[in-house]
Amino acid sequence: MVSNSQPVKGNRLDPWLDSYAARARGLRASETRSLFAVASRPEVVSLAGGMPNLKDLPLTEIAQATERMLRRNGASALQYGNGQGLPLLRDLIPHVMAMEGIHAHADDIVVTTGSQQAVDLLTEVFIDPGDVILAEAPTYVGSLGIFNAYEADVHHVPLDADGLIPQALEETIQRLKREGKRVKFLYTLPNFHNPAGVCMSEERRPQIVDICDRHRVLIVEDNPYGLLSFEGRTYTALKDLNPDGVVYLGSFSKIFAPGYRVGWAVAPPAVKEKIKLASEAAILCPSSMGQYSIAMYLNEFDWKAQIEAFRVMYKERRDAMIGALNEYLPYCSWNTPTGGFYTWVGLPEGLDAHEMLPRAITNLVAYVSGTAFYADDQGHDHMRLSFCYPEPAEIHEGIRRLAEVVDAERDLVRIFGPAHHPSPTGIQRPQPDQI
Ligand code: PMP
Repeated sequence: MVSNSQPVKGNRLDPWLDSYAARARGLRASETRSLFAVASRPEVVSLAGGMPNLKDLPLTEIAQATERMLRRNGASALQYGNGQGLPLLRDLIPHVMAMEGIHAHADDIVVTTGSQQAVDLLTEVFIDPGDVILAEAPTYVGSLGIFNAYEADVHHVPLDADGLIPQALEETIQRLKREGKRVKFLYTLPNFHNPAGVCMSEERRPQIVDICDRHRVLIVEDNPYGLLSFEGRTYTALKDLNPDGVVYLGSFSKIFAPGYRVGWAVAPPAVKEKIKLASEAAILCPSSMGQYSIAMYLNEFDWKAQIEAFRVMYKERRDAMIGALNEYLPYCSWNTPTGGFYTWVGLPEGLDAHEMLPRAITNLVAYVSGTAFYADDQGHDHMRLSFCYPEPAEIHEGIRRLAEVVDAERDLVRIFGPAHHPSPTGIQRPQPDQI
């Protein structure tokens, strides 16, 4: 019987608060995720989420092919599979990678539940609490969530229009080593970066690989957008420059559909074995149904033409966004991405993207504050705008609404001084919800 005199544990919202493992204390809803609820209201133009645009997928044909596949292979597609991933899919993945000129062998591939699970498995396998992960400044918010959950010590390395800066990487590694820190891996997004929209130049790639090799720092190369170039160009994979020092991550989410949750890792043999064992321990095997469906799609559909169609569609949206930025926000800074989903917009001096967000949502436009993409408190002066999902006309309207908010915010800064700083006039700066 439970005694009434037992001390009350937890709190009213969460009675199990005292029972969680220490590592779960870092688990928080990411800024992107908590935004999705509001931003998905139909009246809001969402430039926030990075949802692939699936409107042009041939759904009827996919449904018919899926039915045929189930009649033929249902007994296997609905059964448990192999922890490393089904050979029939692992044999096909190298053909997808070959489109970027990347080499891989089926034996070195582990199929994962999206590349998100691959990041999770690598972090589980390599990171003890306090170990250092190097990541670009900024970096992908979804990976930061994983790094946080495993209590990694994330250090950012700056990037510019040509991607991660080699000199800064060298200096950061040397400094951390001097401080006695264990630098375990560099997590990098060389192609069509999320959120910065830039690509690592060809010149820098061997330099980055060489620095990491000299310091025995593993590279995790996350490449979900590499085939979505608007100019049809591809880049040398870091993995091909040093197969023993790089774990490469790929995904079908952006080149086909994220709902299947199928991605993959290509790793040096010993690391591959660890990832496979960790995955088996976590999920037994990736979805057989998802893998059979992707294999069916690759075998029966013109997937290369579909990727070409995606490129054309996303380029049209990129053009709409850049055009609208020129028209409405000429005093902001941004890059013109040559592929992928995102533009990284710098705000005028004194504006704070994080503080401005509630006001933007009130004005029916959503974005992600730059702060989401850093493990420390950087990013207040930037926002990520996604152009992948809305129609070009909606993008135009979204930027117009955003400009109304930014204009009003600039006026406030002129009168009251920058956000975060005491007002030069001594007048209390209004809070967003007071306007
Ligand atoms: N890495 C990056 C850089 C991403 O942008 C995403 C999805 N937004 C992922 C990994 C995860 O993709 P998935 O798990 O769907 O393959």
